[in-house]
Amino acid sequence: MTLAAAYEANNIFAKIIRGEIPSVKVYDDADVLAFMDIYPQTDGHVLVIPKKARAVNLLDTPGEDLKALILAVQKVARAVEKALRPDGVRIMQFNGAQAGQSVFHVHFHIVPVYAEQPVRAHATGAPADGERLKEFAKRISAAL
Ligand code: 5GP
Repeated sequence: MTLAAAYEANNIFAKIIRGEIPSVKVYDDADVLAFMDIYPQTDGHVLVIPKKARAVNLLDTPGEDLKALILAVQKVARAVEKALRPDGVRIMQFNGAQAGQSVFHVHFHIVPVYAEQPVRAHATGAPADGERLKEFAKRISAAL
């Protein structure tokens, strides 16, 4: 997908927003949804997406959708910090396949980084155990 690709209504995150495929939710309101990444790079890896914007990446996201989105990223990152006590937090956002983007609905990654835990490769490997994801989601949600 190039940077200028048209929005595809059947991408995985659009299906998650519509409830057509399941996700392990951390935070949900009228504007944004935060849920656990199914291939977490570390324990507690969360994705934050806008619910209304039909945007492929940050470059085509309408300005009016950005405030709620970035405020939700900060809110969830703070909850990740409070709940999981990482040594650092990476906030990542990829635009275009060449830059590493693999799902073409704009999103931010919140990746807690721990001194004792290597950061795994992006979007590969075996999917995480669902019960384990639910446990992290519960702890993060409780800290919101
Ligand atoms: P991107 O590569 O576009 O920046 O990030 C997409 C992210 O979505 C990846 O980190 C990948 O692990 C995650 N992902 C891909 N498919 C699914 C899915 O079906 N459910 C969830 N929760 N995450 C997914």
